[in-house]
Amino acid sequence: LVSRENTAQRSVVRVAGVPIGGDHMTLIAGPCAVETPEQTLEAALMARRAGASLLRGGAYKPRTSPYAFQGLGETGLKILADVRDETGLPIVTEVVDAADVELVASYADMLQIGTRNMQNFALLQAAGEAGKPVLLKRGMSATIEEWLMAAEYIAQRGNLDIVLCERGIRTFEKSTRNTLDISAVPVAQQLSHLPVIVDPSHSGGKRDLVLPLSRAAIAVGADGIIVDVHPAPETALCDGPQALTAADLDELAHLVNTLPPLV
Ligand code: PEP
Repeated sequence: LVSRENTAQRSVVRVAGVPIGGDHMTLIAGPCAVETPEQTLEAALMARRAGASLLRGGAYKPRTSPYAFQGLGETGLKILADVRDETGLPIVTEVVDAADVELVASYADMLQIGTRNMQNFALLQAAGEAGKPVLLKRGMSATIEEWLMAAEYIAQRGNLDIVLCERGIRTFEKSTRNTLDISAVPVAQQLSHLPVIVDPSHSGGKRDLVLPLSRAAIAVGADGIIVDVHPAPETALCDGPQALTAADLDELAHLVNTLPPLV
């Protein structure tokens, strides 16, 4: 269903009217985690000023350590919905449990499946039935074929509004959080008609790498970029070192907004 074998045309996925795919690059920005109404609104205003068309933000955070901030749950979803009302930015947020899909879908414009859940098949199937577009991150140890098969689980439930996101994979290299597999973008675009975006924040894990990795994503023809931003990264409860400040985001926006149309 997601293969390009039967369709030459590449898909455009619409999230509350915002297109991902086609002849332009979509910028998605927002906090890694929803912390407070003020922090989320400020991050959303930063995103909107920079020309982002969608707001990201996690209310359910699948953290490596059980002692790390796990997100605000439904309170976080309500904050996101309020910020959407205030800014007009549709929201992309992660769901980590099949049992929560209906609840998260009742607030979100797009459901995110994170790297750690890419092969949580019950979650993929539930997301496929939720009636909302799905952002499917690549598992950090998944091959491109496994990633596309995960998308197939969603598609099989009747939902073809799927966007693939390359977010870095596990390699022997320790100087970055993950290794951005930039070649996965054209490979996935050749194998599948789905749009493919890049997350330079979670792949590099460092603010200074976000811009260079975004340049790489643009150069290779990615359909969009999703980045973490925070009004005060040094106080962030989650992944502060990779969050862009307003100034960094302006630089990224300039890069994206001065792009010639993609062909
Ligand atoms: C995220 O985008 O908030 C996130 C946790 O990403 P990943 O699943 O790629 O680690």
